[in-house]
Amino acid sequence: MPAISSNKPYRIGRSKTGLGLFATKPIKKGTKIIRYFGPMLDCRKEKDDAVENKYLFQINGRWTIDGSVRKNIARYINHSCRPNAESDVSARKRTVHIRAIKNIAPGDEINYDYGTEYFKEYLKPIGCKCASCERKRAKQRAEARAVKSSTAKAGTKARAKAKKVKAAKPTARAKSKAATKAGSKAANAFDKNRASKAAASRRAGAKSAKEAKATPKKRARAA
Ligand SMILES: [Zn+2]
Repeated sequence: MPAISSNKPYRIGRSKTGLGLFATKPIKKGTKIIRYFGPMLDCRKEKDDAVENKYLFQINGRWTIDGSVRKNIARYINHSCRPNAESDVSARKRTVHIRAIKNIAPGDEINYDYGTEYFKEYLKPIGCKCASCERKRAKQRAEARAVKSSTAKAGTKARAKAKKVKAAKPTARAKSKAATKAGSKAANAFDKNRASKAAASRRAGAKSAKEAKATPKKRARAA
């Protein structure tokens, strides 16, 4: 790991995605933090144009910085969709500086937005791991969990209700039993009544059976 002199307001440290650059002192909004540098590649030269790595910083249509060199500490700065710094490009001088766009506190990771091209090519396929995107995903997960638990709760409620109904049924039966015992005479009368009704209906059934037998004959005659 390259050494960083102690008067610099940053250090290389562990970040979620590997290594990152962290503030060691308060950095005021607007301050140039570090220069992004390396060999200048000219896309008109075939050899330069063939260089391919994750640390290429395009300045304009012709010039690109190859930031993959060890001395380029700025290459440790990770991407963020909601950064606290930005890349300040001077096409005329062919230089790039990382500048704070917010006040950065000691311990904060320094980030800048790598731009849509890099995002599409390298970050989108694996899912951006910047704090902002992680927060978004955590929120989505929490919402999904909330929906799940609320449906689970509704299920529990429904089951509890069903249990209550089941529990209530025996009580109702017990009550009706008590009522039957209390008015056993009335109940007997009711039973008799029901028995006679049943007999009547049986007779009625017999009648209708006779009628049913008679009907085919009528039909046969008609035919
Ligand atoms: Zn992101």
